Amino acid sequence: MSHMFVDPALQALEPWMRRVGALNSAIALQGWDQETGLPTGAGDARAAVMAELAGLQHELATDPVAGEQLAALDTTNLTPEESAAVRELRADYQQATALGVAFATKLGHATSRGQQQWTAARAERSFEKFLPALSEIIMLKQEEGLRRAKQGQTPYDALLNLFEAGLTATDFQGIVTPIVTELSPVVQSVKQGSGNQLEGVYPSDRQKLLAEHVVRQLGYPAEYGRTDLSAHPFSTTIHAHDSRITIRMAEGDIWNCLGAAIHETGHALYELGLPQDKIISPLGQAASTAVHESQSRLYENLVGRSVPFWQWLQPEIQQQFPGSAYATQTPEAIVRALNTVTADPIRVVSDEVTYPLHIALRFELEQQLIAGTLRPDQLRDAWNDRFTQLFGYAPKDDAEGVLQDIHWSMGAFGYFPTYLLGTIYSSELWSVIQHQLSSWESDWSAGNFEPLLKWLREHIHQYGRQFAPRALIEQTIGRKVSSQAFLDHLIHDYRLR
Ligand SMILES: [Zn+2]
Repeated sequence: MSHMFVDPALQALEPWMRRVGALNSAIALQGWDQETGLPTGAGDARAAVMAELAGLQHELATDPVAGEQLAALDTTNLTPEESAAVRELRADYQQATALGVAFATKLGHATSRGQQQWTAARAERSFEKFLPALSEIIMLKQEEGLRRAKQGQTPYDALLNLFEAGLTATDFQGIVTPIVTELSPVVQSVKQGSGNQLEGVYPSDRQKLLAEHVVRQLGYPAEYGRTDLSAHPFSTTIHAHDSRITIRMAEGDIWNCLGAAIHETGHALYELGLPQDKIISPLGQAASTAVHESQSRLYENLVGRSVPFWQWLQPEIQQQFPGSAYATQTPEAIVRALNTVTADPIRVVSDEVTYPLHIALRFELEQQLIAGTLRPDQLRDAWNDRFTQLFGYAPKDDAEGVLQDIHWSMGAFGYFPTYLLGTIYSSELWSVIQHQLSSWESDWSAGNFEPLLKWLREHIHQYGRQFAPRALIEQTIGRKVSSQAFLDHLIHDYRLR
């Protein structure tokens, strides 16, 4: 078997990395199957299998022999790539061993109960139903934050760093504040209930064909990926040559399906662009959750909501959906309709202008919950108050408010900021790309998206986790990350001023 690394001590760790990688692959495949093809009666049996596999995964990731080898590794003569691999392997090992088996098991049970109670509570639109499970999860996450925190670090920052290494709440607040100041008045001025001008009847089977046509054209290869149906769209990587996406269709509009398909394709293209020969080491893995999201948002918002993209796609739509709004309106009008500020109370269906306020709200509240300055039983009122301040109206019930997202029930505190950070990264990258690929408009209107993919492969994908996420973006754009490029994009594309 050929080696990934030259250094003999690192080579000695390769069998362990391969075993971890193989198990991760098996778990990913079972997870994909669970969402796309599992027989309805097989849910409990599969959950039991997945729990055992998760236990094995933890055992392997915390293998004491590997831990000793990692600690003893002499890094003086390593190449910069190998040094980066060791840095990341050590960081992973430290995170995997930080909690201890007993605590990790307790947390696992609490979050699996949490998800069940959240599902039931949301169906009944009752925050009280979710409160006992949520209170337990928050208590455990506070402890997890303490256990993971390095010296001088807050527990919340330690949780943030599970998704974005090096990010701090102070740093993120600095990015969020100007965004909220600019966008909150815009969202508050929106008149509710203006209809969707692109509505119609779009048969599902044709939407699926259209989505497949688009994702292929964007560069998602049929031989290394596939498109299946699931209740919520997602992407998952089984291994180096197998990165899959899922979609769902709503008959009333194309964009629900198409926008999500393009988004997930951005994720899959990133995975397939990572160094394939190093896929089981950190060098072959995505830089961070936010960098991952920057790729999906770049495709969804900057490609999928652009006039040249619709100039290319419209003839196909005219064939598949003749007479429909998408077939008869100009590409400019379609983009204007897609770029409408709707001030929706639900995060996942929000437009680009409303979305950041959703993240700001969750970021503020989860920080206070983990710090203990907000009690779980005060959360619903705090949510409704702050939501009203930001949006200018109150959510009509808990399902439309504090119960809408699954994340906290899974214990995913610190995840929400990465969505917005990813969007900001995508705007930062785009501000550079549009100058370097000066023929992007004529390329895209001719259906040529290859230069874009090539650029992303060269500047982002090929590095894996070699650089810290923020450093990777900043060395690419040649300056510090700020919210300015993102705000400029919104002000221009949504005609905010
Ligand atoms: Zn995503």
